[in-house]
Amino acid sequence: MDSAGFIQKLTDAVGEEFIHTDPVALRAYDCDGLTIYKGIPSAVVLPESTEEVRRIVEICREYRVPLIARGAGTGLSGGATPLPGGVLIVFTRMNKILELDYENRLARVQPGVVNLHLTRETLPHGFHYAPDPSSQAACTIGGNAAENSGGAHCLKYGMTTNHIMEMTVVLPSGEVAHLGADGEDTPGLDLRGFFIGSEGTFAVITELTVRLTPNPEGVRTMLACFTKVGDACRTVSDVIAAGAVPAAMELMDRYTIEAVETVVQAGYPRDAEAVLLIELDGLPSSITPLETLIRDISEKNNSSSFRIAQTEEEREGLWMGRKKAFGAFGVIAPSYYCLDGTVPRSKLAQVLEEFDEIASRYDLRITNVFHAGDGSLHPNVLFDDRVLGETERAIECGAEVLRACIRAGGVLSGEHGIGIEKIREMKDQFDEPTLEIMERVRDAIDEDGLMNPGKLIPDEENVFPVAHSGAIARMGGGMTK
Ligand SMILES: Cc1cc2nc3c(=O)[nH]c(=O)nc-3n(C[C@H](O)[C@H](O)[C@H](O)COP(=O)(O)OP(=O)(O)OC[C@H]3O[C@@H](n4cnc5c(N)ncnc54)[C@H](O)[C@@H]3O)c2cc1C
Repeated sequence: MDSAGFIQKLTDAVGEEFIHTDPVALRAYDCDGLTIYKGIPSAVVLPESTEEVRRIVEICREYRVPLIARGAGTGLSGGATPLPGGVLIVFTRMNKILELDYENRLARVQPGVVNLHLTRETLPHGFHYAPDPSSQAACTIGGNAAENSGGAHCLKYGMTTNHIMEMTVVLPSGEVAHLGADGEDTPGLDLRGFFIGSEGTFAVITELTVRLTPNPEGVRTMLACFTKVGDACRTVSDVIAAGAVPAAMELMDRYTIEAVETVVQAGYPRDAEAVLLIELDGLPSSITPLETLIRDISEKNNSSSFRIAQTEEEREGLWMGRKKAFGAFGVIAPSYYCLDGTVPRSKLAQVLEEFDEIASRYDLRITNVFHAGDGSLHPNVLFDDRVLGETERAIECGAEVLRACIRAGGVLSGEHGIGIEKIREMKDQFDEPTLEIMERVRDAIDEDGLMNPGKLIPDEENVFPVAHSGAIARMGGGMTK
């Protein structure tokens, strides 16, 4: 391949200032939030328009070089980790809110807009962007769409797919397509829904029209504390079974409480085995009976205390603990590996017990902080990557945890996606015919196999090579087809 010619064409497409090929600069992009897997791209390009993205895709196609889209790189399954030698398209410059249409409750944005920035912009006008991943201060709306991300308030408001009306995408052929529409429904196949969650393997998203949600009239936030994790889990399933749908229902266990209290002092009791952070929103007249119901159910399940935030400051403090939990793990372990299997709510207590048993078999600890209301777990395997062999043990422990979720009737991923991380376990989740359909669909859309290859859909010929030795063995090695 004429590498110099290839880089020159990319440079012409985006301008000299917006391409990196220097090895030191490239290293900054070698992984996403799942740092176990790494790859160095041949170039990083920062386009500013759909037309520039289209040109990049065309050039990569001409030279048969894989391309990988990247928003903020907060993904936790290796989705934005570069295939070595591939081109990384980074959306830092495509970060504009293009239009705010309050009358129709819509916003038109570029994919690099940071999730929380849209809410900050619209909040004073009575609206917000409802999907709220805990990473919302950094992650982008394009990345959210590619992962179909969730968040604490998605229990009531739905995942990202429920909030995206229309997307402009650049297909692997270099053609530009428009999926969905501004209206509530569109005739024909729901290609918008089909592309959401495809982890950058079908197309590159260059513009989105998203729903704006009116701010609730009232909000009440409460903390229920328990001396047994099982009691907290039963409270979750009992509340939902009673017909209540809180805006959020988050569970944090003992190790998480310890980490959070050491770092941010959110006011969680250190002697609790689990706390439930519950938020209700809506008209004040509808909140009060729900609050009584939840308090009664918590007491029936032996809550040791039940507290309602009395001020906005107190409410923010309670949420601060949840939002900073992942960062706080640094005080209880040098490294953590965050998983996201999802199980039916009624199985929460059972699988958490099983996680403890799996962790002790691997001589590791697992701590849990998760969106309990929809059974979306985040077991975090705590380990020390400086200890020889411990990373490999953490990976295998994680794989067992995911298999336990599947056995409990759940799924491999509630929101973080498959990426590189869970590609092997796809075979535990889906039967051969289902995987074959996925593969055929992907091959039909991306016939040259250049869009984020080695992610999401397992393919023997197309396995992702990674830097980590244990992980290379696990993935089977190999190069892109
Ligand atoms: C502390 C922490 C907390 C988190 N909490 C949550 C949570 O509560 N809920 C949740 O769902 N996730 C959570 N995540 C995971 C992560 O933040 C989400 O997956 C998020 O949507 C990724 O956005 P990003 O912009 O960082 O995307 P990236 O990590 O850059 O990319 C993610 C995937 O999207 C693709 N992609 C990115 N941009 C585009 C584009 N324009 N076109 C096509 N494909 C694209 C990439 O190729 C990759 O496959 C958390 C992560 C961290 C580190």
